[in-house]
Amino acid sequence: MADRIDGNEVASEIRSALADSVERLADADERPTLATVLMSPDPASETYVSMKQRDCEELGIQTRDIELELDAPASDLFDVIAELNGDPDVNAILVQSPVPDHVDYREVIERIDPEKDVDGFHPENIGRLVAGYPRYKPCTPHGIQKLLEAEGVDTEGKDAVVVGRSRIVGKPMANLFIQKAPGGNATTTVCHSRTDNLAEKTRQADILVAAAGVPEFIDGSMVSEGTVVIDVGINRVDADTEKGYELVGDVDFESVEPQVDAITPVPGGVGPMTRAMLLYNTVKATSRQSGIDVELP
Ligand code: NDP
Repeated sequence: MADRIDGNEVASEIRSALADSVERLADADERPTLATVLMSPDPASETYVSMKQRDCEELGIQTRDIELELDAPASDLFDVIAELNGDPDVNAILVQSPVPDHVDYREVIERIDPEKDVDGFHPENIGRLVAGYPRYKPCTPHGIQKLLEAEGVDTEGKDAVVVGRSRIVGKPMANLFIQKAPGGNATTTVCHSRTDNLAEKTRQADILVAAAGVPEFIDGSMVSEGTVVIDVGINRVDADTEKGYELVGDVDFESVEPQVDAITPVPGGVGPMTRAMLLYNTVKATSRQSGIDVELP
């Protein structure tokens, strides 16, 4: 039977350590502030943003809540970003994706001040990550690093296989695994939709990160004994529940769990860690901008 890696528990430890750092900042009259900007056609985005705001409030982080009409011109969004960039009381900016089709998301990201880009998606922050001196690590892969650390998984010298090469999960995850730094030093393979013989690659993994967005497609035949499986996927599938759907990962838990060493559940694995690491980056941003050193977990 595999160990279940409990993301809620690790996230809660990180949040409580961050609460101490927020207190220390408050003692020096610094209140971290995250601005969330919502202009998203995806109905789930509103829920995500309110969850992020609630997380902040619980920790004593202030929030600014900005909402734009879906048909507002892109220039309105750019003006909001410019205003937040220039506001010394705002430490962190998050523009919830996706944005409407008439807005170029790339331009949105490029307009955010990299010092306030707590998603870590600005090209300057991505460049720093790849170069080996990250400023803000993107929240999901950073959360996975923290989960592995909490589980006592040493990545050094291990074979890490990442399924998915997205800008927000797969690519930064692979970059963190290859860093010459703690949580890195892994020999890393990145798989995607054009990968031949995927199962052959995933069976080689000491650490397997599944981030393809395909419900339960990693099954028991694709893993080996001893593998640590991190399931990033959050997929809605029709189900006979009150809501008419349920959330499943990219991993077929039933067939994979008996075969591997450790595994994250969905929900309750990577998801809470992503949320915790946004708080981490917001506290870090405030510390950097104020010059007040605080401990980060
Ligand atoms: P994307 O759709 O942006 O990327 C998916 C990646 O998986 C692509 O690189 C794609 O390849 C690859 N892929 C798709 N199908 C296959 C396949 N059959 N075999 C191999 N590779 C495949 O997704 P995201 O990275 O944004 O998200 C992935 C999943 O993680 C989603 O379920 C998402 O909801 C979830 N997620 C969860 C988070 C959390 O906090 N738990 C945070 C962010 C995302 P190609 O590049 O060739 O198209």
